[in-house]
Amino acid sequence: MTATIIDGRKIADTLRAQVAAEARMLAAGGIPCGVATVTVGNDYASRSYVSRLKRVGGQLGVRHQAINLPADTTQGTVRDMLARLNADQSVSGILILRPLPPHLDEADVFQELSPGKDIEAVHQDNAGLLALGRPRYLPSTPASAFHVLDGWLDEAGEDRAGFYHRSLIVVVGRSANVGKPAVSLAYDRQAAVESIDIWASRAGRLGWHTRRADVLVVAAGVPGLIRSEHVKEGAIVLDIGINPQTDPVTGRTRVVGDVDFDDVVTRARAITPVPGGVGPVTDVWLIRNTVAAARNIAASSPTEQR
Ligand code: NAP
Repeated sequence: MTATIIDGRKIADTLRAQVAAEARMLAAGGIPCGVATVTVGNDYASRSYVSRLKRVGGQLGVRHQAINLPADTTQGTVRDMLARLNADQSVSGILILRPLPPHLDEADVFQELSPGKDIEAVHQDNAGLLALGRPRYLPSTPASAFHVLDGWLDEAGEDRAGFYHRSLIVVVGRSANVGKPAVSLAYDRQAAVESIDIWASRAGRLGWHTRRADVLVVAAGVPGLIRSEHVKEGAIVLDIGINPQTDPVTGRTRVVGDVDFDDVVTRARAITPVPGGVGPVTDVWLIRNTVAAARNIAASSPTEQR
């Protein structure tokens, strides 16, 4: 079997057109749409994500404000910065890039976000709503993975509900921003769900879990972790991993996923490549959430926002 390669760029283009139309409508009504990104330190993946967001935001008419803080920034300074962004009416959505340096308490930092501007649903109010199946915002990466999957099922002529009800979705990786919300989104589709993390690998049980998956969602941050022997024939494989790899000879950095694409493509029914799979959709989804936040804020306090 050779898998269908799912074209995330094409899906992102369609979504981009919808979000641009929505942003134009808000702008015509005098409602500002702006996203602020906050990075602490100098992480390669964060930097490249921020520059992609700036580009996508620009294409969609959404202003981008980049806050880059040095790695030794204190919790108090981050708190003050977030308070300023919470109060800034030109900012409708705020994204705090992970990883934060170890001296910062991530959960405490997330609590400083205004829930209405928390477009990645990391504040406990939004994470709780998501876990209860009543999300204010769907976090961009897992939402994009499922958006890609839903769209592919439609194209393949599958009945979505029927597919999910009979399927086991295995999510590899359990981070608060990707793996755990992906599990919530799988539950929302009434699929059977398994969530595994590094301990399953250390126990030698990675393949035991993944080989039973009808849909395998991989977000571990380990290049090439999933090979064909980990995949059931005919499974759908969504690779969320974005791992920079530098060629020791040329010094050039390229991005690879968590799935050994060339190997798994011979066994899966459909697969997302890296780059060009879930990633391009994620960028647009984040801006989509920013636009939704602008609409929500304006609806809750119209006179203050215009
Ligand atoms: P993270 O916070 O480092 O979490 C990684 C998760 O994977 C953890 O739960 C970890 O287990 C688990 N894990 C690590 N090694 C494993 C192994 N050998 N077997 C099974 N599980 C393992 O990373 P993240 O933020 O979730 O990101 C994951 C990947 O997605 C990264 O490559 C990141 O760059 C990428 N990403 C992509 C997008 C996108 O737009 N496509 C957006 C965000 C992130 P423990 O919990 O036990 O440590």
